[in-house]
Amino acid sequence: MNKQWILSKFPVGEIKEGDLVLHDSEIPKLIDGQILIKNIYLSLDPANRGWMSGQKSYVDAMQLGDVMRGGTISIVEDTKSEKFEKGDIVNAMGGWQEYCVSDGKGIRKIPLNTGFKLDSFMSILGMTGMTAYFGLLDITKPKAGETLVVSAAAGAVGSIVCQIGKIKGCRVIGIAGSQDKCDWLVNDLGIDGSINYKTENLREKLKELCPSGVDIYFENVGGKNTEIILSRMNVNSRISLCGLISGYNSETIVPGPAWGNLLVKRINLRGFIVFDYIKRYMEAFQDLSTWMRDGKIKYKNHIIPGIENAENALKKLFNGENFGKLIIEVSKDPTL
Ligand code: NDP
Repeated sequence: MNKQWILSKFPVGEIKEGDLVLHDSEIPKLIDGQILIKNIYLSLDPANRGWMSGQKSYVDAMQLGDVMRGGTISIVEDTKSEKFEKGDIVNAMGGWQEYCVSDGKGIRKIPLNTGFKLDSFMSILGMTGMTAYFGLLDITKPKAGETLVVSAAAGAVGSIVCQIGKIKGCRVIGIAGSQDKCDWLVNDLGIDGSINYKTENLREKLKELCPSGVDIYFENVGGKNTEIILSRMNVNSRISLCGLISGYNSETIVPGPAWGNLLVKRINLRGFIVFDYIKRYMEAFQDLSTWMRDGKIKYKNHIIPGIENAENALKKLFNGENFGKLIIEVSKDPTL
């Protein structure tokens, strides 16, 4: 039997009990060309909330009755495809379930001889690492000596952006929602300063920590804090528009940024979706893995065991209880 989370209602506001329903189903028999994968790790992402909304965005909308969509690291349990062997470890959209039958499209094998832990392929060497790498380097082209501000800085994407910023010689200031996170950013990751947006005056702290203004803003959050950051930005500065998590659970439009600042200061703002860069993932992989081996970059995963805990765990992304890339351990990691 296969435990699956099914989208039962399109959530309104925060995800509520009953929007997703856990149920058991039988695993279908394979036909030619198909593989059966067993999920090991399931990625929980802010984007999950958008996929549940019933509205098309950069991917097709999910329908009621669908298995909840999600990225996985999985092992091939059975195969009727020439492209995969039993025991292959793969990156897939295996969904919020224990097992998944697939025709193999979009599934990529993960190399096992790298010396890196398997769960790192779900964060720094996976989708969130790629997001940080291209979102910072390709979109904003940071130069040594520039000041970079990052929101949701202690998160999966933000923490890697901060460290790449340091590698590129920037002055890096991270914004996060707890003292633990702020301390970790400065003491463990070595950034230049951090601001707890829940307890400190963002406007005053930005003035103090960014005396030459802000050259690059890596936007993960949106809302009223963005307005304050815009007011500190320099002429010809750049913004990488990665995410707007503060609005994902909102039933109304959240207060937006002061667009006048973009105009007067000729700020270059560019949105992106990480999948735009699929063909260049190897480039990011090479750099990130070298920086990891050289001890220049660290990552933190927040792993919760049990597929039955996925719905409750997802809520942590929106109240800030996750500390690091949020991952569900669906089954035992066979490489450990
Ligand atoms: P994180 O690991 O950063 O977790 C989300 C964090 O966001 C929380 O821990 C919390 O941290 C912060 N947060 C949540 N709600 C609010 C709020 N209302 N105001 C301020 N901060 C809030 O998640 P990811 O690293 O996976 O994602 C970060 C951003 O990147 C998201 O916006 C996501 O949509 C985007 N993204 C975009 C991609 C793309 O292709 N463009 C790909 C992947 C992610 P805190 O304690 O600091 O409040």
